Amino acid sequence: MNEPGESRTPEQAELVARQAQRWNDPRTQDDARARVALVNVRAKANEPRLTSQLKQLDKAPAIKHKIYWLRQMAETFADAVAPQAACSDACDGCCYQPVSVTLQEAEVISREIGVPLQTPTEWSTLPVMKYAGQPCPFLQDARCSIYQHRPMVCRLIFNMDADSLLCQMVPGARSQAPYADHSIYKELYIRAHLGKVKSQEEMQAALKGLRMADLREFFPNGLGQSGGGKSQ
Ligand code: SF4
Repeated sequence: MNEPGESRTPEQAELVARQAQRWNDPRTQDDARARVALVNVRAKANEPRLTSQLKQLDKAPAIKHKIYWLRQMAETFADAVAPQAACSDACDGCCYQPVSVTLQEAEVISREIGVPLQTPTEWSTLPVMKYAGQPCPFLQDARCSIYQHRPMVCRLIFNMDADSLLCQMVPGARSQAPYADHSIYKELYIRAHLGKVKSQEEMQAALKGLRMADLREFFPNGLGQSGGGKSQ
């Protein structure tokens, strides 16, 4: 059995060592916390806008409308976070990470971009780690080719470190970047798919029925023609 890291190239091993050094430096966490404090000031000012969007999300009659409002809320989140984040147009680090989407969101994206869905070979509500370090099929020339229609998870990831070092993925490794906390939005995203649930039992049953997979499973060829797999 291979030891972890045994098959890494010298460049990958060097990158992992630099990342570990950065991650273990206490200043990394302290600096990230200082940036988050600035984010919180702006987020506070955005609260009325977010409250109004939350009401619209609650009233939205169908999942496609809910996804619209979730995207609006992600924009409000980004408005506060992006000015303090290391993320820039020149970085595509998070496009090498697992990208978990629901079947319903994949259907919305499919309609928007005009590419039919493929049936995933692996359903999972957790990030599928075999895709860590693998480029997203929508990544073209280091840019997102479906930017206006990208999944929610792509809209919510912001690295609060000083630069993109910790976002650079080595296949099979987990990213250690100090991401801005987007757990509330993730919860709203999941809840939007569950309908009205009145009890924990109903919630558990609804969660069991949630179908999620990596974006690469739904669209293995990106904007290219489908490769003969079974369409939804
Ligand atoms: S959909 Fe776009 S932003 Fe999201 S991982 Fe793929 S290329 Fe990157």
